[in-house]
Amino acid sequence: MTEQLHMSSIEGTYTRDFSATVEAVFPGIVELDRTAFYPMGGGQPADHGNLAWDGGKTSVEDVRKKHRLRHMVEGDLPDVGTKVSGSLDWERRHAHMRMHTSQHLVSAVVDQMHGARTVGNQLYTDKARLDFLPLRLSPAQLSEVEAEANRYLAKDMPVTITEADRSELEQDPLVRSNLSLLPASIRRLRVISIGSLDTCPCAGTHVRSTAEIGEVEFIKRDNKGSGKQRLTYTLRKPGSE
Ligand SMILES: [Zn+2]
Repeated sequence: MTEQLHMSSIEGTYTRDFSATVEAVFPGIVELDRTAFYPMGGGQPADHGNLAWDGGKTSVEDVRKKHRLRHMVEGDLPDVGTKVSGSLDWERRHAHMRMHTSQHLVSAVVDQMHGARTVGNQLYTDKARLDFLPLRLSPAQLSEVEAEANRYLAKDMPVTITEADRSELEQDPLVRSNLSLLPASIRRLRVISIGSLDTCPCAGTHVRSTAEIGEVEFIKRDNKGSGKQRLTYTLRKPGSE
């Protein structure tokens, strides 16, 4: 099992460079005992970066996790047992962290204002696309959602990682999640909270404070079938015009 450094703490989430030992190697694949690389999942793309060791270097093009966490690499391959230094493409990762945290916040605001659940999401470095059900916002209502989200984003709200029992979360009406979608075998969950605004089980990467996010700007609104509405937004960095 690869230890994922972003999971247990916000400090771990901010790990850009790390050392690890190679546990297994296949053509184009490296497995490590620990990693800061985020594997694609939960609508968040995989991290990119590189691995280097005495006499070799390889670039990490993709990261996938299914039973085992695999770094898909292009370049040299290290031997099993080699000590490697991993380094993330931090600009890409931090953009995903801002997008992912803003996604929780926008989902919470839409839920509060309109009682719609988030039923899908895809994050990119420059935009996020969220599907809500049931939702049919007018342009004026979408402007109100944007203003409310930005009112929260203007505050320096802390983002925290905790762990909780599934049964506890299922009984808490303030938890925003569809726990029934998770396999029954999962009993303990990693929980992300944004101040007192939102609590949601999630395994992704998030910023430590909403002050790092900036402002949301909705750029698209598509009505889908069965009362679903897809909203797309971009982020203006803190301090930018
Ligand atoms: Zn998340």
